[in-house]
Amino acid sequence: MKGGRDMFVRPLIERKRDGGALGADEWSRLVNAYAAGEVPDYQMAALLMAILLNGLDGRELGALTDAMCASGARLAFGPDAQPQVDKHSTGGVGDKVSLVLAPLVASLGVSVPMISGRGLAHTGGTLDKLEAIPGFRVDLSLDEARRQVERIGIAMLGQTDEIAPADRKLYALRDATGTVDAIPLIAASIMSKKLAEGLTGLVLDIKRGSGAFLPELDRDVELAQTMIRLGEERGCPTVALITAMDRPLGHACGNALETEEALAALRGEGPADLMEVTYALGTEMLLLAGVVAARPDARSMLEQAITSGRAADRFRELVAAQGGNPAVVDDPSVLPQAPLTRVFEAPAAGMVERVEPRRLGEAVAAMGGARRHVEDDIDLSVGIVVTVKPGDRVKQGQPIASIYARDEAGMAEGRAALDAAVLIGAPDDPEALPLISHRVTAQSVELLV
Ligand code: URA
Repeated sequence: MKGGRDMFVRPLIERKRDGGALGADEWSRLVNAYAAGEVPDYQMAALLMAILLNGLDGRELGALTDAMCASGARLAFGPDAQPQVDKHSTGGVGDKVSLVLAPLVASLGVSVPMISGRGLAHTGGTLDKLEAIPGFRVDLSLDEARRQVERIGIAMLGQTDEIAPADRKLYALRDATGTVDAIPLIAASIMSKKLAEGLTGLVLDIKRGSGAFLPELDRDVELAQTMIRLGEERGCPTVALITAMDRPLGHACGNALETEEALAALRGEGPADLMEVTYALGTEMLLLAGVVAARPDARSMLEQAITSGRAADRFRELVAAQGGNPAVVDDPSVLPQAPLTRVFEAPAAGMVERVEPRRLGEAVAAMGGARRHVEDDIDLSVGIVVTVKPGDRVKQGQPIASIYARDEAGMAEGRAALDAAVLIGAPDDPEALPLISHRVTAQSVELLV
């Protein structure tokens, strides 16, 4: 039996090693055999490294993505269902957009079946932010998610064993073998899960800058175009925006603090940059769903859904449906509270030159608020709220941040991070990236600034 497996997989590894391509049947057989535990990790790891070094052509990438998606179940909606559109972000520090955007768009006649991830290393994850709400369950079965989407237009859940199980296994192996950072593997991983949602449209928020998963613009555009091609070829129109992650998005970094900021945004009190990114992504979602034809109309529908309270109402329904305490929308004090809070003051007068997101994200992890390994438990209450942005002028001693810690060691971590992350100088022109710089479609890469 072992000899049989080796005879099947080894020539495939050798072909990828030598720059050749595998056929669709070979990808399907390989992924199924790996998901079933019939291919050992050492062979799959060798193949992943060959992919990282030699890439995949378009046909192989499609076949790999399809095989990963087909390793699990898919959400299926009837022909009369309203359009189903989702958003995926490549993640960063302070990115709480999903908590505002999903109920906002769902309140406007678009179904949002959103499968999200947890935070890892310096980046946060939507599931952890949702779990800061007492009682909120993210472990819905696909059947529960489908019924909930049909009833209230929204479900926010995690990847269970039902959804692209081959991706779960492969992602853990990539993490352990230095093969996460390969654009075809990232694209196949993300799109295999998104395609399992049975979407009629998908919007990608590709983060760029020092706090992003892929900091460089050329790689961000390549990732966007790769995922767009995969989506479009599978009947899921896909559009990407490239947005800044060279500073945190909004002010709050840390799970419950970010949930609190997202709730403020749903009440119409969100920070300007968070609202700008949310409205830009929301506009693309409404256009893809076909509920509106013109960009300015989409924007005003979104603003109106915030000011009227319609989006907040939808979030309340979502929380109640998934077992959480809906009072959280008006009373964020039900969120976990850190025992220690301290204000951080500007050490000098001048202009804020940088607010380095990666350093802040790493501090939140060191304070206990994010995972170093997938299985770690985290403290949802801790974090840092930075109220200044690059370009702001500050006076010496002005409060510019607050630290929320569980002990004095965490407080010291937070303080050291702020000392290093917030640079105050006298620049003529602080070097901040444009908040939303490019719109990528199947046809073009449009510069927005
Ligand atoms: N997120 C995923 O789901 N997969 C990747 O490969 C990278 C980020």
